[in-house]
Amino acid sequence: MPRSASSDPNRSRLATWRTEATLYQVEWAMRHVHLWGQSWFSGEDPMRLLKRLFENNERWAARMLALDPEFFERLAAQQAPQFLWIGCSDSRVPANEIIDLLPGEVFVHRNVANVVHPSDMNCLSVLQYAVETLSVRHIMVVGHYGCGGVRQALEEGGSGMIDHWLSPIRQIRRRNRAVFDSLPDERSRWDRLCEWNVIEQTVAVSQTTILRDSWARGSQIAIHGWIYDLHDGRLRDLNVTVASVAEADNLLARSNNSAS
Ligand SMILES: [Zn+2]
Repeated sequence: MPRSASSDPNRSRLATWRTEATLYQVEWAMRHVHLWGQSWFSGEDPMRLLKRLFENNERWAARMLALDPEFFERLAAQQAPQFLWIGCSDSRVPANEIIDLLPGEVFVHRNVANVVHPSDMNCLSVLQYAVETLSVRHIMVVGHYGCGGVRQALEEGGSGMIDHWLSPIRQIRRRNRAVFDSLPDERSRWDRLCEWNVIEQTVAVSQTTILRDSWARGSQIAIHGWIYDLHDGRLRDLNVTVASVAEADNLLARSNNSAS
């Protein structure tokens, strides 16, 4: 039986946790700026950094237990996230922090430039597990402006594994050369390709048999395309949400038309 947010002591504790977490993040940022000022990372035994991570972990676990003594026991017993986040590996775009969710609330897959290759066993396994076992309700494909992977795909040439990985993004650029060439400068082309990549990867997720079979079984599951701005910490919805086979096909058709 679902409980309302106001009567659920766990939710109340979590709200408190979020407030404290925000304050802690401010404190963390101030502490690290101070430490960087003292050349924390330079001139110290490199092992010291790892020791500090364990110390951070001790404090974090203690804080969580102080707010909710059963937090870890509940999480260990079961995970039931509503969301699957497919995002970029960029260290500045951490899923849980950006959408302010606790451990256990979002299932995450990240790779360079948030690409969904139809042959990527890793990504497809995550997708299948999220859809068929965890029964997530929302999948968000999240790109970000200033993406280094997208930047590399904008440039011609290159070889090696990363260029193979980025080839779907390079294809977007090539298929839409006229559009990109009409943009006023390199920054505009970069921003536009970051957005376009999100849309194409949203299409890619929506065309997998995993999603299409799930919709055919009557599952209520939506795929969203979002983009994150490193400069203000804000997410923007690119309004390409699809929640059925028909909507997915419509988005695919729109994508093909814009590329022709
Ligand atoms: Zn990136």
